[in-house]
Amino acid sequence: MKKPIFLTPQFQERIWGGTKLRTEFRYPIESDLTGECWAVSAHPNGQSIVNQGPYEGKNLGELWNEHRELFGDMEGEVFPLLTKILDANNDLSIQVHPNDEYANKHENGELGKTECWYVIDCQDDAEIIYGHTAQTKEQFIEMIENGEWNQLLRRVKVKPGDFFYVPSGTIHALCSGVLILETQQSSDTTYRVYDYDRVDQNGNKRELHIQKSIDVTTIPHQAATVKPSIEKIPGATITTFVKEKYFSVYKWEIEDSVAFHQDRPFLICSVLNGSGAIETKEGNFVIEKGTHFILPAGLGEFKIRGNVELIVSHP
Ligand code: ZN
Repeated sequence: MKKPIFLTPQFQERIWGGTKLRTEFRYPIESDLTGECWAVSAHPNGQSIVNQGPYEGKNLGELWNEHRELFGDMEGEVFPLLTKILDANNDLSIQVHPNDEYANKHENGELGKTECWYVIDCQDDAEIIYGHTAQTKEQFIEMIENGEWNQLLRRVKVKPGDFFYVPSGTIHALCSGVLILETQQSSDTTYRVYDYDRVDQNGNKRELHIQKSIDVTTIPHQAATVKPSIEKIPGATITTFVKEKYFSVYKWEIEDSVAFHQDRPFLICSVLNGSGAIETKEGNFVIEKGTHFILPAGLGEFKIRGNVELIVSHP
């Protein structure tokens, strides 16, 4: 019999991180520089741990290896997705990620990294870097060499509720004052092209990866505009943000009580607002802001009750 699999996240300190994961999401973390909550992760650099039920104490990678039936017997060596919450208290480095082919060849068989962002909250004037203005590779290299960052980088204003699809090869960065939920391929490969010439407390700059960035950047930039579609059903509003090769991502805004059928290999669910309960044949479970869980294959009918907002994804 199948129950929801509740997970405890792993947290990552970052020089650009802040305190919102503690103050907004109530996670018990001490560092004032917490940048990333790896909420649903089987990546070896930070695995989430099952925190109740028959698999309590196992990490997600073990579950994937030992109980593939929970994931609809999906094929693949590694759990394919990684869900994070990112608190960009400061600007992140300007970066780009490789595709599967490049990462496999140059990064020890890692997956590539296509990602997407749901803006949970942000400052009034918040922006992100999304894409660049170079028309040719020569131009791209020249602008990097001359440090013409203002001309090269495309800035985009953001507001809460916005969604951005960021395929591998897209130059991007979160800027300060943005809190997002990220759904991405399970990969930790980032090529930094520019880090604002920042230094750490020891006076050291972070490593850049200019040549690899040039290798993998899509030139000219291709805006991957996604058009969310919104469906009203009794008791809820379902927004479909993206249905692409690596993942589909939705927002479920539950106002009352809604019945669903779990017919995917698995669903990844993150509660971003409110509280309620998930009712399954195997029992009822409280969910609240900051709860992350997987609904396994074969869960069947379930209900979500309450006033609660979730981001839901599947491969
Ligand atoms: Zn990224």
